[in-house]
Order: sequence, then C-alpha cells, then structure tokens
Amino acid sequence: MMNAAQYEESLRELNLVVYMFGKRVKNVVDDPIIRPSMNAVAKTYEMAELPEYEDLMTATSHITGNKINRFTHIHQDTSDLIKKAKMGRLLGANTGCCFQRCVGVDALNALSIVTYNIDQDKKTNYYDRFIKYLTFVQENDFTCDGAMTDPKGDRSLPPHKQADPDMYMHIVEEREDGIVVRGAKAHQTGAVNSHEIIVMPTIAMRSEDRDYAISFALPSDAEGIKYIMGRQSCDTRKLEDSFLDRGNSYFGGHEALCVFDNVFVPWERVFMCREYEFAGQLVEKFASYHRQSYACKSGVGDVLIGATQTAAEYNGVQKASHIKDKIVEMNHLNETLFSGAISCGAEGKKEPSGTFSVDPLLANVSKQNVTRMPYEIARLSQDIAGGLIVTLPSAEDYRSDETGPWIEKYFKGNAAVSTEDRFKILRLIENLTLGTAAVGYLTESMHGAGSPQAQRVMISRLVDMAKKKSLAQKLCGIEPI
Ligand code: SF4
Ligand code: FE
Repeated sequence: MMNAAQYEESLRELNLVVYMFGKRVKNVVDDPIIRPSMNAVAKTYEMAELPEYEDLMTATSHITGNKINRFTHIHQDTSDLIKKAKMGRLLGANTGCCFQRCVGVDALNALSIVTYNIDQDKKTNYYDRFIKYLTFVQENDFTCDGAMTDPKGDRSLPPHKQADPDMYMHIVEEREDGIVVRGAKAHQTGAVNSHEIIVMPTIAMRSEDRDYAISFALPSDAEGIKYIMGRQSCDTRKLEDSFLDRGNSYFGGHEALCVFDNVFVPWERVFMCREYEFAGQLVEKFASYHRQSYACKSGVGDVLIGATQTAAEYNGVQKASHIKDKIVEMNHLNETLFSGAISCGAEGKKEPSGTFSVDPLLANVSKQNVTRMPYEIARLSQDIAGGLIVTLPSAEDYRSDETGPWIEKYFKGNAAVSTEDRFKILRLIENLTLGTAAVGYLTESMHGAGSPQAQRVMISRLVDMAKKKSLAQKLCGIEPI
C-alpha cells in the first residue's frame, strides 16, 4: 500500500496533458486550484495507514491474500459493502468534499461481475484479463477514474445515429494487438488525480451500436488522452493566500472532460469489445455501486451540520427552540442518507463471479434521497448561519488598518469567540453551500451516479408491483384477474 506522500510522488511521475484557463498545466500536482483535490484523494491513503481505521480502510485481497486499500477491493460479502459505505462517510467527514476515489472501486467491482458473465455467455476470456489487471491495481494501490459518462450529443438518438459519431466512445480501428478508440468522457471526477482510467459504456446498446459497446483501462497518461478542467464556482479563491476566504482551505474536488483522440488500447486491457448485450448490465452494476457510494454526502453533511451548530453558538442563538429543531431536522435528513447506503449493502447478494453486489432497488432509493436531502440540509444551514455568508468582507479588508477595526467590532458575535473564528466557520458554510465544495455537496449529489430521473426509471422497473397488488387484493377478498 502507498502512503499519502508516496501517492503524491507517484502522481508527479505521470505525464498528464491537462488544460485549464486556456493553458496547458505544467505542474498538475502543485497547481493551487487542483492541489486541494489531490489532498482529498491523498486522505484515502493517509487514513488507510492509521490503526484505528484499519478495518474500514483496508481489506484482504481475495486474489493475493495481501492487505490492500479498500478502494481496490472486490466485495466478498455484505460486510464489505457496509464497510464501503462507512468508509465513504468517514472520508467525507474528514475532507468536507468529494474525495474522488470511489468511482474506481465501483468500476472494478462492476467489471468483476460483468466480465465473468460475458465469458459464461460468449466463451471469451475477459475475466482472466480483468483479474490480472485488478491484481496490478491492488499491488500498486492505484487510484482509478471510473469513466462512464459520454457527451451523448442528441439524447433522442442512439450512438450510431449521432451526427458526430464521437458523441459516444467507439472503436475506430481493430488491430492484431488491440483497438484504437475515439470519443470523450464528460465530468470525470478526480480524473487528473488518477493513475488509471477505466472506461465503460454509458447506456444499454443494440447490435447497431456494437462498436460503442466497449470497456477498457489505460494509464491516465496514455498517448492521446487530454483533460480539460471544469470550472467551479469560486475556484479562483483557491489562488488567494488568505485561508480566511477560501472556506475549505485544504480539500476540494474536481471534474474534467477527458478526450480520447485516437487512443490505442492493447488487448490485455480490453474488458468488453462489441458484446453490446452486456453494456446495459455493466451500466446498471456500476450505477448501483456508485449510488451506494453517495454515503460520502452524509460525511460532508456531518461537517455542514457541525459548522451550522457552531455558527448558531457563535451567534448566541443555539438555545432558541426553532434553531434546535432545525438542527434536528438536518440530522434526521443526514442519517436518512446514511441509512439508505447501509441498507443496500446489508441486502447485497452474491453474483456468479463471487462478487457481492448491492441491492439495486435500495441503492436507487438511497441515491434518489441524495438528489434532494443535501439541498434541504444546505437551506437550513443558510437559514441558521444568516446572510453574513454572502456579505462578509474579504480577509484583506479584515486585515487592513483602515477597515479592520470596524470589521472586528461589528462582526463580533458571542463576545467569547474571536471574529476571525466566526469568519472561518461562515466561510466554510459559504463554501459548502455556494462555493467549490457545493459542486460536490449539491450539484454532484443531483447528477453524480445518474440524475434523479435515472433512479426513478430503475425504481419503477425494480419494484414488484404485481406482488403489491396481490397483497392488497387478497386482503379485500378479490380474486386476481
Ligand atoms: Fe466518491 Fe462521493 Fe465523490 Fe462520488 S461524489 S466520487 S461517491 S466522494
Ligand atoms: Fe460522482
């Protein structure tokens, strides 16, 4: 296993092609806008070294028997699934942001199921290839970007009917030694903090789309891969010296557009090649796992609730009954998020490959909650924190001889608390509900692992409506038609 320092050094060895603000980023690791997101991933390495988190953060490889980081582990039972959810909450609580590494472990687990199923049906040898790749990832303790979302172009058209054929990742050439692919993956969480990129199809496919039914893995700096960083609200705050104005001064997340410009993939790294019948299965397995991973948001919720309670105390309003009730409501919502993630793990089932998968209905219900509840938690936090989260002057004004004394005087709350500490807590709430961290806490909660409608489609498919009707009809003495 790598420690946090080794992880950082390993990223320095990559030669990633990253663009941001119109320029190629020469030093990705030390870039002040990207670095907080690297710090967040580094936490997944750091906490795995701590004895008190060993059970949650590490596991025993079912292939080698070696101790590995849980972010590279294939779930062997329901307790592994439950621990993954608890690990997500732990890391969300310790970073206050998206720590990015879950997409990789979710992609590895989904592939461990689907490569096996393809082999059973098609007599291929994807599972063996995959296990070799997995061993390589586990032994090197790599961070993997699980890349699913294609740009999709006109949503009413399947891949092969798009005006631009590159709207979905596809094979452009098949060679003796591998395939050449072209396309892009959009809003890739943690892409430039990853050693590997694992590509999967984004929708179920038919035979006409067979060239789009592909899954493979590449080093993140493979020739032809380019990353264009997404902007986040308030991202240039990270360039400021003053940690007073940055909100979450240490951690963040990032998303990037990953362009695959005629990229070669050797056969040993190809895990699906035109088996279009299995594209939908891979999407669903990955989506269910990743919908459970949103337990991370209950950890970020812990931070926001803690910040809100602190702000209430700094304002001297913590004893007001409506404040206490709003804090209870925030906790109720946050624990509801967590219970969904735990329950779909507890109800997990063994797949033919031996991997345990989460209960898909409960995973979709859980993620549907995530598309709503953080917004309500954020609303209550802003209600309690007050308008100062958007009207506080800058740190420069706070430090200026001319304006500083006025700010010190008029932004004082509880006399026992320094104005500076009040600043810091309010900036954190600003960051979590409006700034860069709100990208992870709110919009990513909405759209990450699938937008709300994607879960509603799955819920309607997965509930046993015939059984529900017969239960009701039986109690009324009605003969089923
Ligand atoms: Fe992991 Fe949560 Fe970030 Fe998704 S949003 S990558 S589940 S931390
Ligand atoms: Fe995500």
